[in-house]
Amino acid sequence: MILVSSCLAGLECRYNGTHSQVEKIRDLVKQNQAMMVCPELLGGFATPREPAEIAGGTGDDVLAGRARVIAKSGEDVTEMYLEGAYKTLELARQVQAKCVVLKENSPSCGSQMIYDGTFANQKVPGEGVTAALLRREGFRVISEDELAEVL
Ligand code: SF4
Repeated sequence: MILVSSCLAGLECRYNGTHSQVEKIRDLVKQNQAMMVCPELLGGFATPREPAEIAGGTGDDVLAGRARVIAKSGEDVTEMYLEGAYKTLELARQVQAKCVVLKENSPSCGSQMIYDGTFANQKVPGEGVTAALLRREGFRVISEDELAEVL
């Protein structure tokens, strides 16, 4: 089983109520070859919600307690991001995910790039909280841009 970001499969669960559908991923879900997960919804967020970025580091730093996830208004939402990440890990274990395809640039799902915490549309190399946790626990995590590798 492949685990995929829900927004990549067409669910309108992004912070602004939109999706980031990739047809191939939507088809994998329809054919029961992939299962959808949205770490932020699992963490207790609703849609729409405030955008958030990792301040002071990457997802790895959040897991280590060295950085926080901050909403645009300044609210510290780190605990909800962690909750979503650990629930996603549980699911990945349950379905024995052979690969996890996550939406690039998200503070949860980014696997190569994330925003830098300034809300100035600046990206930096790094992983989101969920991507970092899954990789740390041995799962293969890729982005929608690398999908060809698993198909
Ligand atoms: Fe998509 Fe991940 Fe953001 Fe959910 S947390 S909307 S799956 S990028």
